[in-house]
Amino acid sequence: MATTEQTFIAIKPDGVQRGLVGPIISRFESRGFKLAAIKLVTPPKEHLEAHYADLKDKPFFGGLIQYMLSGPICAMVWEGRDAVKTGRTILGATNPLASAPGTIRGDYAIDVGRNVCHGSDSVENAKKEIALWFKEGDVVSYKQSQFDWIYEKA
Ligand code: GDP
Ligand code: MG
Repeated sequence: MATTEQTFIAIKPDGVQRGLVGPIISRFESRGFKLAAIKLVTPPKEHLEAHYADLKDKPFFGGLIQYMLSGPICAMVWEGRDAVKTGRTILGATNPLASAPGTIRGDYAIDVGRNVCHGSDSVENAKKEIALWFKEGDVVSYKQSQFDWIYEKA
């Protein structure tokens, strides 16, 4: 079903420390997406290196891993129609200075190295990231009470 697409969204350590967990969750909730999993975690270095494996040759990789190790991360799975692409739109551009106001990064961040949130960039990567960050039973299946008010058809 188109309404069951899932994306992995994380509030990075700066977002948690700056008290942005509530505002960021609110944006996904009020848009109509369904929260399928959530936890506050401090993963080890190897986990974060695996998460960002495609960036391991970038000059900022070391700094990125240090940033991700600097405090708790709020890891989530959000579900709904076009959740991956729309999730990225809600986050805004990677570089916050290029993010439109109204996006999370466009409203809450300035520096690309402190851009407060992560979102999967494809359905395939979303599946990999959800499997990396969550155990099978952690991702919950339930009917959102508002479902028929958000979608005309499933
Ligand atoms: P995202 O998918 O929008 O998060 O962007 P990428 O997958 O390209 O990069 C992952 C993360 O690495 C970004 O969210 C930034 O935190 C960081 N990053 C990307 N590009 C740069 C850069 O040029 N400099 C620094 N310092 N960090 C970067
Ligand atoms: Mg990325």
